[in-house]
Parts: sequence; structure tokens; C-alpha cells
Amino acid sequence: MTFNHVSYQPFDIHAHLVDMDIYDKLIEGKEQLNHNILTAGYSHTSNIKTVKMKNVKNVFLALGIAAQEAIKNKHILDQIDQWIEFIESNKHIINAIGEIGLDYHWTNAYEDIEREKTIFRYLLSLAERMKLPIIVHSRKAEDDVINEILNYDIKGTVLHCFSGNARQALKAVDNNMLISIPPIKSRQRKKVIKKVGIHNLVVETDAPYIGKHTTDINKSIEIIASALEIDNNTVKSITYKNSIKILGIQS
Ligand SMILES: [Zn+2]
Repeated sequence: MTFNHVSYQPFDIHAHLVDMDIYDKLIEGKEQLNHNILTAGYSHTSNIKTVKMKNVKNVFLALGIAAQEAIKNKHILDQIDQWIEFIESNKHIINAIGEIGLDYHWTNAYEDIEREKTIFRYLLSLAERMKLPIIVHSRKAEDDVINEILNYDIKGTVLHCFSGNARQALKAVDNNMLISIPPIKSRQRKKVIKKVGIHNLVVETDAPYIGKHTTDINKSIEIIASALEIDNNTVKSITYKNSIKILGIQS
């Protein structure tokens, strides 16, 4: 019996196409993507730009309000209802709520952190209500992020650019969360990959911020392949399946 290995395209579960040169070309149909990308909004302005990609082939959409917005904007609570209404009004074209999360790197002021948490909870309850998975950013806040998510009935969670330790990673996957690997190596990330295994992993570029190009997804795949000593195609096909399953996309 011969085994025919099905070779999938990579699935980049986290990028920001709205901030890349390719954005206009994709919308105008002058350029095409040959692998799937979930592109995430992180502010009301970027959400508006993100929904304009609804007809672009191989692009899937996530809308969210990120922690950085809550840090920057002390009056965010005056606007959040309207921004959430916009996200809800796009229910039929989005696959996830994101980017959302907590970031303790840019601030350690109590009131900033409380405001971040308030916004995060708003978006978590939105995801619960909309029955959508979430794409979550966490920087120096892994324990709080995981605990906050566990207070809600969320359909699925992707911890994007996961930078926590092996203990935190195990807690996340024990609670059905997926760990997303960006195109940068670290010793701790290698440990996390080995600890949680391929069935709990997905890949991302976070382009243009971590990866510079959409093709940098191959570097993320390579990082997992070398940590687990398996071939790139196996990583590609399993992370692809993990991605479409959590996003509720038919293959
Ligand atoms: Zn991002």
C-alpha cells in the first residue's frame, strides 16, 4: 500500500495585511495570495480597512480591539460600544475575534492595566455571544490572559506569538487553546513546542511586525520542524488542519 501524503498550503493564522504594501494590490486584484492568511484588525480604523478585504481570495478576517489601543486611549470606554457594534455588524464575514489581549510590557500603571482588562473582557464576552474563536495577544501577561479567557465560554483560542513558558503553555493546551509560533526562534519557544506537540500548534507571521513578508510563514514552519525533528510538510499539513478546525472553515 502506498501512502499519499496530502500536501497542504501553509495557513498563516495571524498577520496584518492592512499594514502591508500588498493590501491595495490584493483589493484591486493585482496580486494574489497562494496560501491562506487570517488577517486581524486591532483598532476601529484597522477593522474598517480589514473588512474591505472580504472578497480577497485566501484571506480570512478577524476583527478586534487590541490591548495597545486601551493603553493609548484613556477615553476608550466612551467609544467601545460603537466599535463593538461595528464588529457585530460584520458577523457574516468574519471567522474570529482578534486581535485582543493584555500587554504589560508598555505600561505598569494600575489604571492602564485595569482599562486593558475591561476592554479585553468586553471583547471576550463579544466572542462568547458571537460564538467565534479568539486570536489573543499576550505580552508579559500570560497567566492573567489564560485565567481571563477561562471565565468565558469561548469556542476556541489561539495564543498568537506565544512567549510564555512551558508551564503556561501546558495550562493553555489542557484548556484546548492553540499555541501559535511566529518566525522567530528562542530557546524557550523550542521547549514549548516540544512540550505541547504538533497537534496543539499553529503558525503565523504577524507580518509586517514580526515577519516582514507573507512568505515568512515558511520560517515558522521550519522552527517547529526542527524542534520536533519532523519534516516541513508534516508541520504544514497538521497546522493547516488545526487552523481550519479552530476557525470553522470547510476544507
Ligand atoms: Zn499582531
